[in-house]
Amino acid sequence: MGIPPRISLLLLIFISCSTRISANPSAQSFYDEKGLRNDSVSIKKASNDYGNIVHEIPSAVLFPSSIKDISNLVRSSNQRSPPFTVAARGRGHSVRGQAMARGGVVVDMTALNKSRSRIRVSGKESSGFYADVGGEQLWIDVLRATLKGGLAPVSWTNYLYLSVGGTLSNAGVGGQTFQRGPQINNVLELDVITGKGEFMTCSRDRNPELFFAVLGGLGQFGIITRARIILDKAPTRVKWVRLIYSNFSIFTRDQEHLISSTSPNYVQGFLIIDENTTNQWRSSFSSPSRQSDIAALLKKQGILYSIELVKYYDNQTASTIDKDFETLLKELNFNPGFIFSADTSLFNFLDRTGDLDSPTGPPESHPWLNLFIPKSRTSDFNAGVLATLFPKLNEPSAVFLFYPLNRNKWDDRMSAVIPEEDVFYTLELLHSSPPNAYQIYDQFNSQILGFCKRAGIKVKQYLPNYKSQGDWIQHFGPKWPTFRQRKATFDPKFILSPGQGIFNSA
Ligand code: FAD
Repeated sequence: MGIPPRISLLLLIFISCSTRISANPSAQSFYDEKGLRNDSVSIKKASNDYGNIVHEIPSAVLFPSSIKDISNLVRSSNQRSPPFTVAARGRGHSVRGQAMARGGVVVDMTALNKSRSRIRVSGKESSGFYADVGGEQLWIDVLRATLKGGLAPVSWTNYLYLSVGGTLSNAGVGGQTFQRGPQINNVLELDVITGKGEFMTCSRDRNPELFFAVLGGLGQFGIITRARIILDKAPTRVKWVRLIYSNFSIFTRDQEHLISSTSPNYVQGFLIIDENTTNQWRSSFSSPSRQSDIAALLKKQGILYSIELVKYYDNQTASTIDKDFETLLKELNFNPGFIFSADTSLFNFLDRTGDLDSPTGPPESHPWLNLFIPKSRTSDFNAGVLATLFPKLNEPSAVFLFYPLNRNKWDDRMSAVIPEEDVFYTLELLHSSPPNAYQIYDQFNSQILGFCKRAGIKVKQYLPNYKSQGDWIQHFGPKWPTFRQRKATFDPKFILSPGQGIFNSA
């Protein structure tokens, strides 16, 4: 039996990095002065993610103390034959192993955060404000840092404990996207280490091909080490309501009306299949008297819908906010009386979920499915999926989001893939299950995808997960030749983010 490929890879890395093996050379664990480690804690963390479904074991984990450490690693891979794979790991909040590298090296980007503050706010009123932010930074820290100067990014995900590099590799979608575009649309400049190990700065004007490739590029073209994020003056307060609907067409009509208006600052929709969902609202929305009415409606209908709507305000607009909100609500047709309001700070609103990562209960898996659905087919989707499959789903604690986005707020030159229509819906099925039972939800997800295929509904997966290159080619559609060409330009040896399974699948 020869040297196992993992070990021989380690030896190659050792040689190229002039490694000092710590402590006992015969021991299995090692670290070197460049931050490369293979101790069991590091390996275990790098071979799991939020999904807790896929587990791929890397040979080593790099804890970089500088950007140079990362480019040295990627360069050293390029010098090997065959090269080893490298995956940046932000917060590991992928759900299907996208930040893993079987037999390769995972770069724990959070290690960069230890050296010094990597969030810097600049700009001026006349030309606009921005923050230069390390790719490893979490959005919650970007929010904290920018609010100190009364500023904030304009487009948010619903959950802020995600890395900037990780979300920009997908898109970064939330309740502000209809108006401000996804997070990838609110970036001015990037520093990137390409798959060749080159450090490049890019923007719409400078190395634009790399800029557009990397945004929404699923980690395939380069490792983002800095992003320049657009900032705006931050409002101090938000007025926030949740409205209940029992009719799907009225629910979608109102959502589409809202996203065509400039009045709201945030619009999102939810599917409610269990009264637990609205019970969870009680603390912030104090609506106990309506809980039994909701339960009765739910029993009758099997599914209800909710719009979550927010308007920002500050001292200057405090006197008119109630009136403005009233005007907005008059245009909507929710179930009379089913309105739950809250008034809070911008920070509390954006951080409404808190950090979900402190494990208190038993371990869970997260077999999520995220889809973009063209607006013209939402009533078919409702008939074939929402109204029929969802009421049968026994999943009390799940969160299902369903809300529309405007295509014109996206930039088609970027790698992210969306449906062709002007308006499309995002469906986010955020399932949780015991680790040995996630297959039940995978089957449910497959039923949905199967229905869409049979009905000819051209959905696109967000945070896509495919097993074959044929499926990837179909996913990218007309963007595939460009995507492949960009890969050949920036990562010709297929080194980066192998866990996405795009260029190394069947
Ligand atoms: P990781 O899982 O670490 O990495 C994801 C991919 O990006 C991998 O391929 C990795 O190699 C690559 N990558 C990581 N860092 C870099 C970098 N610096 N440069 C280049 N490539 C890199 N998404 C939304 O759009 N909206 C939401 O509201 C939202 N909410 C979420 C809530 C939760 C609880 C969770 C678990 C996920 C949510 N997501 C949401 C999805 C999330 O945006 C993606 O999973 C994102 O990739 C997570 O960032 P991360 O830092 O954990 O990335």
